Amino acid sequence: MEYKIALVKGDGIGPEIVDSAVRVLEKIGQTFGHTFTCTPYLAGGCAIDATGIPLPQETVDGCLAADSVLLGAVGGPKWDKNPGNLRPEKALLGLRAALGLFTNLRPAKIYPALAGDCPLRPDIVANGFDMVMVRELTGGIYFGERGRRDGKYGPEAYDTEAYSVMEIERIARVAFETARKRRKNVISIDKANVLETSRLWRETVHRIAEEYPDVTCTDMLVDNAAMQLVRNPAQFDVVVTTNMFGDILSDEASQITGSIGLLPSASLGSTKRGLYEPIHGSAPDIAGQNKANPIATILSAAMMLRYSFDLGAEADAIEAAVDRVLNKGLRTADLGGGEASLGCTEMTDAILAEL
Ligand code: NAD
Repeated sequence: MEYKIALVKGDGIGPEIVDSAVRVLEKIGQTFGHTFTCTPYLAGGCAIDATGIPLPQETVDGCLAADSVLLGAVGGPKWDKNPGNLRPEKALLGLRAALGLFTNLRPAKIYPALAGDCPLRPDIVANGFDMVMVRELTGGIYFGERGRRDGKYGPEAYDTEAYSVMEIERIARVAFETARKRRKNVISIDKANVLETSRLWRETVHRIAEEYPDVTCTDMLVDNAAMQLVRNPAQFDVVVTTNMFGDILSDEASQITGSIGLLPSASLGSTKRGLYEPIHGSAPDIAGQNKANPIATILSAAMMLRYSFDLGAEADAIEAAVDRVLNKGLRTADLGGGEASLGCTEMTDAILAEL
């Protein structure tokens, strides 16, 4: 099969880590008989420098014409003082909107070889931790009506949350489909004891759950979820929640794993085209020094194979190669490799060798 991938390398360590992932994709292509045609596009700070704006139309058009998008990271101190519409992060929001991406999928797991990096007590994670957060990305309070007004006690500000049945139905379906590829367990997180949007959320998620009798579905209040994540993280398989709750809980979940250099993510819409990127930023402090950990981006490419191209065996092969490299004790500096740390290129070589 032939697949067209738009590469948005971005700034800082972006180019190094995306190049690593491309090397892995090329190897997968050779082994499994696929062709991945990768075309680079500018976005973020590098696009501001080259074209004056963070997201050139050519990039949007290129991403829309591709089968999927692999992104490194954008931003850096050079552009920190730019006005709002000329900040590198604008490119991310613009791309998400242009591609209609309403779901953010963030897996978080503890690798047994790196269990020592988990900040929780060993007995708490004795049963492992391997979950996926399915976060609604384009609705809720981050997109609701907001403003300032004169209130009863003087000036006040307000933000509003609204969710339509359609928005909840489509994110719920993503969660149940994701669970079918995993341990078939969905926990839906809301605040239905207080919020009307949560009551509609709960009602709608349960209606969709009836279409998936092979998947169990339970509810959890968000305050309890924040507590359960650090009390008994093994109970979570797939979590589905709103934009704001997902924003907060996905960062909590990522910290349990102990390393942001390992965590991939996917943003998905109603087509097979997705945007895949590591959860970390552009790490300007180590850019261009061959110190970046490429694993989060390589695992993001694996997610692209699984979710956009339905190449499950190929994605499994990449994930298994990463497991084997970590089990052998190979480490980049951020994973505590110390004197024996591998650089970005050498870690990629090690993963390629395992493939
Ligand atoms: P960061 O994630 O870039 O870096 C935080 C720390 O983690 C740094 O010490 C960095 O060296 C380290 N780190 C991150 N990724 C690593 C990797 N793959 N290997 C080894 N070490 C790694 O976060 P930050 O410092 O807050 O932000 C730096 C820039 O990135 C800012 O301009 C920020 O706006 C941007 N940012 C972009 C994205 C994105 O593109 N999606 C996300 C977050 C931050």
